[in-house]
Amino acid sequence: MTRIEATSSSNFIRHIIDEDIRSNKHAGRVATRFPPEPNGYLHIGHAKSICLNFGLAAEYNGTCNLRFDDTNPSKEEVEYVESIKEDVRWLGFDWHDRLYYASDYFEQLYAYAVQLIKKGKAYVCSLSADEIREYRGTLTEPGRDSPYRTRSIEENLDLFSRMRSGEFEDGAHVLRAKIDMAAPNMVMRDPTIYRIRKVFHHRTGDQWCIYPMYDFTHCLSDSIEGITHSICTLEFENNRELYDWVLDELGVDRHPQQIEFARLNLGYTILSKRRLIQLVEEKHVSGWNDPRMPTISGLRRRGYTPEAIRNFCERIGVARRDSVVDMALLEYSIRENLNRRAPRVMAVLRPLRVVIINYPEDRAEELKAVNNPEDPAMGTRNVPFARVLYIEQEDFREDPPKKFFRLAPGREVRLRYAYFIKCVDVIKDKHTGQVVELHCTYDPETKGGDAPDGRKVKATLHWVSAAHAIEAEVRLYDHLFSVPNPQDAKDGLDFKDHINPNSLETLTGCQLEPSLAQAAPGSRFQFERLGYFCVDAVDATNQRPVFNRTVTLRDSWAKIEKAQDHKH
Ligand code: ATP
Ligand code: MG
Repeated sequence: MTRIEATSSSNFIRHIIDEDIRSNKHAGRVATRFPPEPNGYLHIGHAKSICLNFGLAAEYNGTCNLRFDDTNPSKEEVEYVESIKEDVRWLGFDWHDRLYYASDYFEQLYAYAVQLIKKGKAYVCSLSADEIREYRGTLTEPGRDSPYRTRSIEENLDLFSRMRSGEFEDGAHVLRAKIDMAAPNMVMRDPTIYRIRKVFHHRTGDQWCIYPMYDFTHCLSDSIEGITHSICTLEFENNRELYDWVLDELGVDRHPQQIEFARLNLGYTILSKRRLIQLVEEKHVSGWNDPRMPTISGLRRRGYTPEAIRNFCERIGVARRDSVVDMALLEYSIRENLNRRAPRVMAVLRPLRVVIINYPEDRAEELKAVNNPEDPAMGTRNVPFARVLYIEQEDFREDPPKKFFRLAPGREVRLRYAYFIKCVDVIKDKHTGQVVELHCTYDPETKGGDAPDGRKVKATLHWVSAAHAIEAEVRLYDHLFSVPNPQDAKDGLDFKDHINPNSLETLTGCQLEPSLAQAAPGSRFQFERLGYFCVDAVDATNQRPVFNRTVTLRDSWAKIEKAQDHKH
């Protein structure tokens, strides 16, 4: 069941900001930032954070910076930086001239580290990574002091500057904050704040071989940029103490407030760059922008609109408790948006030939069709009608079950915008027995869809004229994973063991009304009765149109049939 919640016009972060403005805490300023690490493409979880940070800034007449948290050079690439910029822009947000990189602050951060050492609050530790882990203790046991903890300030300064100049190999030394190895909060047990990494950085090249850690970099970057509210996800709650410790020890004059909120989790998919990258690299999907991916670029290619994603983010609200949001809510948001803006067209995905035996062979006529019943301003178009048509295979049953009201032998139905037709003969393949063609008659009196004698039909079918239709490939998508929470390791399986083998169905030979011949890449339509579709922006060409199904319409028949299956 989908719960569609009321739009949350208020959340706890707004309350904090309101209070800060009342007390004039940051001189009434609101400055936020979105701080992605450029180690993958953005996903819908990031959209929540983007909408929140840029949204609050807009609401309070403040600013929102885009800052790349690029302190982990081995995993970062220019491609990701560019994709992130594109996605933030596409979502409808603008950082104006406030584009920053944590790497811009490397020199300043180094100076801050030296300042900590001089204060006796940081030391060079020469334990190995394994030893550091071992000395750290556990949640129930305190850690032990590193034997290097008592190095003199002079020795620390000397070693740290030699770390910078490249004298030591990766892992030989780290710089650690000197806090408390018995602190109940494990984050405070002398955390590493610098490490040696002799790797090329996408912006600073080979200039640095020591790189600052997240906890040291993030708070100082926020402070340098004059951020007032540093909004992050709940897993950083324990890091807040360190965030504040670093800023307090360094005595910086701008001390932002870290505020945590619950990250977005979405059913039947995965929101983690680390895992999404595996799907890409191991070719379980065609790329970061595969329409099945929960990435912004995947959703865009699938046909999602920025409005739908923003509305979704507003609907899910911002809370401090973790939860899993139903995919149906995301689908609801795009349906609602496209219902108003997508033109209706007719397309037959699995064609069944229909010959109207009393319609002249040499004739064709143009019938008027409404482009969007929700918006008369979108006007009308003509669709060609002729003797040979295609309808959907599933709209015909030779032996119709009880509640099946569509076409069947001897039965009359309406063709949308056209005529009533009646099935008079069923042609089958001699060998397979499969229905290959229907012979129907049409009633010329019913043009436009109503019978002058008032007789009723129970179904209206979509159709295309065979002679006029254009052929296309259509891709239908299902959930990427076959279980609601593929990350749940309780079953002892890897998340990839839950990949849905039927998440992509490719249909070829689909027949589309001719107005779609000129459809631009990325343009979106409602295929009547079938769902919302968009022209694939990557694979579609003039010779070979490709459409992606963004989302289905609700299918009442599938529900009835399912309910019946359950009864039997
Ligand atoms: P991932 O686990 O996917 O790599 P991340 O947190 O490491 O995510 P970052 O690039 O560091 O990715 O994230 C940038 C910002 O987006 C951070 O402030 C982070 O808290 C936020 N964010 C990431 N994932 C989500 C999510 N699922 N819901 C809400 N915010 C998120
Ligand atoms: Mg991160």
